[in-house]
Amino acid sequence: MMKQPISHFRNFDPAKLPELLHSNSRKDFLVAVRLVLREVLASMRVEDHYVQVMNEIKREPCYRDLNNNWEKLKPEARGGKWQKLMERLVQVAYAGRPYCMRCGECCRHGSPSLHLEDAELLTQGFISTRQVYTLRQGSPVRHNIEGRLDVLAEELIKIKEDPESRHCIFYSEHNISCLIYDQRPLQCRSQECWNPTVLEQVWYQKKLSRRHLLQQDHELLELLQAHDERCDPRKLDAAFKQVHETGDVAALNQILDILSQDTGFRAFLIKKSVCDEEELDFYLGRPMVETLLAYGMKVEKDKDGVYHLVAAR
Ligand code: SF4
Repeated sequence: MMKQPISHFRNFDPAKLPELLHSNSRKDFLVAVRLVLREVLASMRVEDHYVQVMNEIKREPCYRDLNNNWEKLKPEARGGKWQKLMERLVQVAYAGRPYCMRCGECCRHGSPSLHLEDAELLTQGFISTRQVYTLRQGSPVRHNIEGRLDVLAEELIKIKEDPESRHCIFYSEHNISCLIYDQRPLQCRSQECWNPTVLEQVWYQKKLSRRHLLQQDHELLELLQAHDERCDPRKLDAAFKQVHETGDVAALNQILDILSQDTGFRAFLIKKSVCDEEELDFYLGRPMVETLLAYGMKVEKDKDGVYHLVAAR
């Protein structure tokens, strides 16, 4: 059967790789490289870099090797060299765009966590405590890669997200821009979508916590400490595990007790005019009734006013 030249394809995806590697036509190789490069540049929205990047790729030893020897190489040997060429192709393509195009892509995928270096954004009023929330130590979070439920190792303060879209609240969809661009947090300033290692380095820098911002207010800090102890998310996590493993009613009551204490602390802060409703998520973290959702549960009140845990749909 005649093999179809790869140039007949309108795009090149990984499923077509075995067909390419078994093709003895150098032309197929050349067309495949061009198609991959066009796709990579399109995903970066820099299609007009094509000629410049292609010229650089042609100077790469792995490209020259494949171009000169394609017909002589066996499919396995082509595969190893193709892999190396693809890695270089992506590196060269990204290196040609070392600047932020303000496309808004990162702002649409959630909001940044704040670092110690961002403290002044709050103390000088560029960002208010109504616009951030606290994820307390021990809070359940989804593991980025494995998707499993993890507990947070240290406290984080994050900019709030739009409840519907999950976009950062400072992201303007209308203008595709950041409303606080000149005062954006460290994480946003460091974000280089073409170079993820930079963001990894920033992530390990010291995080901002409520204690850094409220260090002069000893009374309030004591109150937050009491809330952290009585409504510790790790206690909630342990109680859920116990209920799950043993069906223990005492653990169920402990969950309801933690929820009720959390509600009480919130009401107390408002009553004492420590903060308003919008600031509660900063001072006390997200309400614990919302934390329940991470465990697939929610609270319902029956007709006698008694609270029950039920599965969240
Ligand atoms: S603060 Fe600005 S740059 Fe950072 S995620 Fe929000 S909108 Fe984007």
